[in-house]
Amino acid sequence: MTLRLGIIGHPVAHSLSPAFQQAAFDASGIDARYERWDTPPAALADRIRSLRAPDVLGANVTIPHKEAVLPLLDELDPFARLVGAVNTIVGRDGRLSGWNTDGPGFLRALRDSAAFEPAGRRFLLVGAGGAARGIGFALARAGAAVIAVWNRTPERAEALVSDLRRAFPAATCEVQSSLARFRGFDAVVNCTSVGMEGSGTEGVLPFDPEETESHCLIADIVYKPELTPLLRAAEAAGRPVLGGLPMLIYQGALAFELWTGKPAPVEVMFAAARAALRASVRP
Ligand code: NAP
Repeated sequence: MTLRLGIIGHPVAHSLSPAFQQAAFDASGIDARYERWDTPPAALADRIRSLRAPDVLGANVTIPHKEAVLPLLDELDPFARLVGAVNTIVGRDGRLSGWNTDGPGFLRALRDSAAFEPAGRRFLLVGAGGAARGIGFALARAGAAVIAVWNRTPERAEALVSDLRRAFPAATCEVQSSLARFRGFDAVVNCTSVGMEGSGTEGVLPFDPEETESHCLIADIVYKPELTPLLRAAEAAGRPVLGGLPMLIYQGALAFELWTGKPAPVEVMFAAARAALRASVRP
């Protein structure tokens, strides 16, 4: 039986997950087909119900459904419950469990691609959307000393900081009121969509990396283009950098490992994602 998986979102036409997940299944010799499951909000409950079929191994979940799927699942991993968002669903014997591999994927990218250990370090998150939530909770769980959050809409930063404080009283979590001051951070992470192809902010910097201290890691979770305007400017300023592609691949690798119980062929996934990115570059 050919197993089935897919990415559930709206829209999903531009997702890279089908390219690199299919490559991972093929390289691992698993007979599976990873599909695009474009699902408008009104069709979400039916889509989730369809995952209970015996040939479905699971799914990824993306914008706008990461929060809406929670009540439709049978079980939640404690970390997904803490974050309040699910990006990976695992089907077993007709039962569905929800997981969040976005934050853990960012941690693995930090450690494996930037050789950066988050414990005891001071982070500034620029943005407070779904991705920032997963990253913030993963950093707090990994023992980050400081997590500051700036967001264009301040109420969202305040909500994330208060949720982090409640769950991790030992970490220092605070709202950052301005992007003019960057002293005292070991890493600044762009968690907004600013600079992303198709966002209307192509070529725009979410902040000026020259304002950070010289040792500060500049991470961008935007992966399209792979070398974002922020990463270019940070490199030109001599800062260490981490792009968004490693996070994308490692969140997918963790999902693959949950579905299959096998180690993910990470290099194959990177190569397939880069090929898909090159193919999608606009002329
Ligand atoms: P989201 O929940 O919609 O949050 C979007 C964030 O971007 C919010 O903080 C929003 O601020 C901010 N923002 C949007 N436009 C802005 C602008 N012009 N100026 C300043 N801030 C702006 O989306 P998300 O799921 O967190 O995703 C955010 C980005 O991360 C997307 O580009 C997505 O592709 C990327 N991402 C990458 C990975 C990866 O694996 N590498 C994983 C997940 C997401 P407001 O609250 O003020 O609107």
